[in-house]
Amino acid sequence: MEINHFYINGNFVDPIGQEKIDLINPATEEKVGHVVTGVEQDVDAAVYAAKSAFNEASLLTLEQKKVILQEIIDGMQARKEEFAQVISEEMGAPIKVARSAQFGSGLIHFINTLKVIDNFGFSEVHDNITINKLPIGPVGMITPWNWPLNQMCTKVASAIAAGTTFVLKPSEITPGAAHLFAEVVHETSMPKGMFNLIHGHGAVVGKAMSKHADLEMISFTGSTRAGIDIQKTAADNIKRVSLELGGKSPNLILDDVDLEKAVSMGMKQCFFNTGQSCSSPTRMLIPKNMLEEATRYAVATAENMTTGDPANEEIFLGPISNKVQFEKVQDLIQKGIDEGATLACGGLGRPDGLEKGFFVKPTVFSNVDNNMTIAQEEIFGPVICLIPYEDLEEAVEIANDSPYGLSSMISCSDEAKGHEIAKRIRTGQVIVNRASRGEYPAPFGGFKMSGNGREHGLFGIDEYLEVQAVIN
Ligand code: NAD
Repeated sequence: MEINHFYINGNFVDPIGQEKIDLINPATEEKVGHVVTGVEQDVDAAVYAAKSAFNEASLLTLEQKKVILQEIIDGMQARKEEFAQVISEEMGAPIKVARSAQFGSGLIHFINTLKVIDNFGFSEVHDNITINKLPIGPVGMITPWNWPLNQMCTKVASAIAAGTTFVLKPSEITPGAAHLFAEVVHETSMPKGMFNLIHGHGAVVGKAMSKHADLEMISFTGSTRAGIDIQKTAADNIKRVSLELGGKSPNLILDDVDLEKAVSMGMKQCFFNTGQSCSSPTRMLIPKNMLEEATRYAVATAENMTTGDPANEEIFLGPISNKVQFEKVQDLIQKGIDEGATLACGGLGRPDGLEKGFFVKPTVFSNVDNNMTIAQEEIFGPVICLIPYEDLEEAVEIANDSPYGLSSMISCSDEAKGHEIAKRIRTGQVIVNRASRGEYPAPFGGFKMSGNGREHGLFGIDEYLEVQAVIN
């Protein structure tokens, strides 16, 4: 896709910035388009539009917001295949995953917000005190490349429900879905200037947004490194900064489960989207006396995973989304070997038969010590660590021995016990005995260095509101 325009104040406009960033298909390493990158004046123009539109957006009625959400749902559904194709081309998601999970996880945020908005208490009365929840003011949104539509849509749906205006900067690696989304918005009744889209490098455009005096908040999803930088930059004008960052999620497999089933489910969950999910359960915790058996099941599952052309409907693993990330994954695999983890399958280099593209061999490390680099750092590829534990106390200790705290899984035969263990795990979500999260929009966000925000459903709307007490 060739993206030459930004979307500001309800119009597709020529950016002031002129530099073009090449868009590379990670399966072929070939250029498939470009995006023009903005400069500080483009940020100023988008923020000015968001600021000017704020009054109108903040006065939208519940009914008007619901109409806009429904119009977006209809518009996205009509262009589902275009969204899937551009996501698959730009970030390498297998086309089946792009159509189902990548597209679906974006759309669901509008459906869910529409479901919960009637139950949101925008105003409550306690004796002589009325508590109003008012839109915070213009918001800057910065999103990453691994789930391009999902991360953008959760923010946008909640911000519409809150009645605020915003400026979105998607990843410069995967700008296509956001551009299509702007075309969808263009056909809706959303007030002009409520949604503004700009593109460009994080260090230039993202930075200018983080320090902009007229943005009241930054909602950021991406790496912990960038999150720290944004928080520091935003501190000078006391912006609210909501962060959704990295993860190193544990999967506690207890000794009373069907081991083959639990390992296979954990593997598929970890390697889904080619291992490029912040919440991937990348540390599989196994009772020590079951490690050998679990390793066999993990290897069998990995060896059954097909890797190749994302356009092929049959494949499970596509390429890593970009060269930098591919090289990082290779470096970390080398570190795992160097630090003495057992390489049970996979390893360095591309899978056999794939000479081009950022493809990684599905890799299982066993007998991993939780202090090793591969157990502490986010790898973001199809690589898993099997870590042995002696007893439940040690399993909980290992699960929590991480700078991150985004998500976790527990496989156990007694669900009540699973719920008790969950309370001891320092992560924002705990998924007990299942792979997917389910329909209800559960709050999503991290403890510790995984961030401080909560997205989805009712909790997501709260992010974009200020609390006001009126006392009479
Ligand atoms: P990244 O942090 O490099 O980039 C994310 C976005 O931030 C991009 O739009 C980029 O241009 C911008 N950016 C980069 N540096 C910036 C800076 N200094 N100031 C302002 N903006 C800046 O991350 P990525 O490589 O695109 O994405 C992968 C990371 O995202 C992983 O760490 C992953 O765990 C995390 N992630 C977190 C969640 C979550 O909800 N917790 C979800 C998905 C991905």
